[in-house]
Amino acid sequence: MTSSPIPRRVALISVHTSPLAQPGTGDAGGLNVYVWQTAVRLARRGIEVEIFTRATSSADAPAVAAAPGVTVRHVVAGPFEGLDKRDLPAQLCAFTAGVLRAEAAQAPGYYDIIHSHYWLSGQVGWLARDRWGVPLVHTAHTLAAVKNAALAAGDTAEPQLRVIGEQQVVGEADRLVANTETEAAELISMYDADPARIDVVTPGADLDCYTPGSVEQARAALGIDPDETIVTFVGRIQPLKAPDLLVAAAAPLIRDGHRLRLLIVGGPSGSGLERPTALMDQVAELGIADSVTFLPPQPSDRLAQVYRASDVVAVPSHSESFGLVAIEAQACGTPVIAANVGGLAVAVDDGRTGVLVDGHDVGDWTNALEKLLGQPDRLAELGRNARAHAERFSWEHTVDGLIESYRHAMRSFAAQNESAGREPTQGGARVRRRWRRRRN
Ligand code: UDP
Repeated sequence: MTSSPIPRRVALISVHTSPLAQPGTGDAGGLNVYVWQTAVRLARRGIEVEIFTRATSSADAPAVAAAPGVTVRHVVAGPFEGLDKRDLPAQLCAFTAGVLRAEAAQAPGYYDIIHSHYWLSGQVGWLARDRWGVPLVHTAHTLAAVKNAALAAGDTAEPQLRVIGEQQVVGEADRLVANTETEAAELISMYDADPARIDVVTPGADLDCYTPGSVEQARAALGIDPDETIVTFVGRIQPLKAPDLLVAAAAPLIRDGHRLRLLIVGGPSGSGLERPTALMDQVAELGIADSVTFLPPQPSDRLAQVYRASDVVAVPSHSESFGLVAIEAQACGTPVIAANVGGLAVAVDDGRTGVLVDGHDVGDWTNALEKLLGQPDRLAELGRNARAHAERFSWEHTVDGLIESYRHAMRSFAAQNESAGREPTQGGARVRRRWRRRRN
């Protein structure tokens, strides 16, 4: 019978984006929030966390004590500026070398486990795992095959290179963390993942920051008219997130004279960067510029005001592995209208805390919005149910699940070593034997 250890120190790998970056634009979004929120809470439970991320400024110190028990290590891999995540496969060797060197400067057995986020980090974690002789837990966050199966019209498909890279990481990771049962099923059907190695751990929201509050005060703080109906989009502005669908769907209602304002919070990202002003151009072409307010990415305390100020938050994404924005809005007592895709079907309790819309037909979305906004009593009831639903998704709950996954990974790893007659030590000798075993 093997014991069930708790890791003392975790190496979190987040190559393409730093938990210290402001989410809501470029490559910074839910993954950053996830990594930061779980790291801080793991550390509070006595598990030290070191986060490896790519340096994107000459001012990035090699190691930053970001919170008690949380260190962010900036790894130099390629030029600081001018690279986005599509350029990063070419920097993985440099990044991995930086990670291995940082560990080599420590005492043997410094990390007990590696947790990689997104496939680029999985590639790094896979090699580090074999060098250090510790298990690798991987969270994909998004999957190229899933995204490609539901592309927005005109959006750019994820390259085959990414699908292959994801497939390799799925094959190599000791455990896979999926956000929902849907994502677990996608890992199995599209990536041939071993079901016995998947843990479903739902993400969360910061329930202390995202709380219900006075709509009037929130609107006053943001300078929003107290009498308008506010429908809000929060997130990275890119075709995948479909803010253009929301704009097109709301336009007839605005032109029909509804006192409706769209609030769009976030900055351009991904394939949206090719035409960063495309959404503003669309708003102007539809003649609704006076009824649309664009806000740049907001810090979380201000974002809570945005959610409280809104009558409805819309998440019309073409694909979404979870959708943190939906939970955060509900935590503030605001109902959500969301596309019935991926994790949004878990994040929104259809008919109780919001509405799920099938498909991305503009007319269907106009009808769904009109129906919802025309029923103020129903909206109020959905909002009342929303907070209780969101409370099922705390980051503490996420961290419970992650620790279980880490313990499971460490247990299985130790058992494998034991049955192969290997000594329970770290280092190259064991690693080389492990490689021989894998090849045989
Ligand atoms: N976000 C933010 N400020 C903004 C816009 C977004 O802090 O102005 C955060 C938001 O709170 C959420 C994350 O970015 O936690 C977006 O996560 P989501 O899962 O909705 O989308 P993703 O970026 O992962 O695709």
